[in-house]
Amino acid sequence: MSSSSSFSQSSASRLHLPQVITMDGPSASGKGTLSRRLAKELGYIYVDSGAMYRTLAWWVLRQGISLEAPLSDAGQTAVNAQLRRWKAEMKVVEGQAWLHVDGYFPAKEIRGDAVEHAVPVIAQISKVRDWMVARQRECVNLGPLVMEGRDIGTVVFPLAPVKFFLEADESERQKRIEGRGGNTSAARRDHMDSTRKKGALIPALDAIRINNTGQTPDETYDVMLRHVRERLGRA
Ligand code: C5P
Repeated sequence: MSSSSSFSQSSASRLHLPQVITMDGPSASGKGTLSRRLAKELGYIYVDSGAMYRTLAWWVLRQGISLEAPLSDAGQTAVNAQLRRWKAEMKVVEGQAWLHVDGYFPAKEIRGDAVEHAVPVIAQISKVRDWMVARQRECVNLGPLVMEGRDIGTVVFPLAPVKFFLEADESERQKRIEGRGGNTSAARRDHMDSTRKKGALIPALDAIRINNTGQTPDETYDVMLRHVRERLGRA
């Protein structure tokens, strides 16, 4: 690829652009499956930033702190205190980086109903977002990344050379959620995520927007891989 406007990996590193592919979008837009697959194909580390917020919600609930919306000032202060107290660090396991607390990653617990309900509440707290964004940026020290979330292309890595924003029609996303044995709180989460003041779910201006309604995961993946190759100049 010789076009002067295209990024190659070497030009990206010369410009000190983070070696990151960002993947944002609402629930059931296909982010998880596609970013995992892309990371594996490219040999990048996969980071599920949603799991980080979920892990904090799980931890805070375990401390007996209520996370009902709207959260009071006292509730926010209690959560912020946990950010100073908990012993949390990112660890890479089989090419994927997960937030561990006291050396433990609560893989099952963070998918339960209590966390599902609490996570958008905790994600609205300004200091929580600052803490998460700082940890997410530190992940560049682990190697090249594919990171999925809500604000990765807009806030966490605004200079990432490749950004995706995945969408699918509401009815299709609902079907996917039901197909997974679904729960009804995804719409509530999406609404809270899209309307919060800080780190709201919105596409970056330079994001590649893909509406994958009616597409198979393979079809969407092929489209994404073409974009990545074009932007990073990889064969
Ligand atoms: O990606 P996942 O659905 O697991 O994310 C769970 C929740 O974590 C989201 O609904 C949102 O409230 C929060 N989140 C966020 N910012 C991110 C990733 C997730 O606020 N970058």
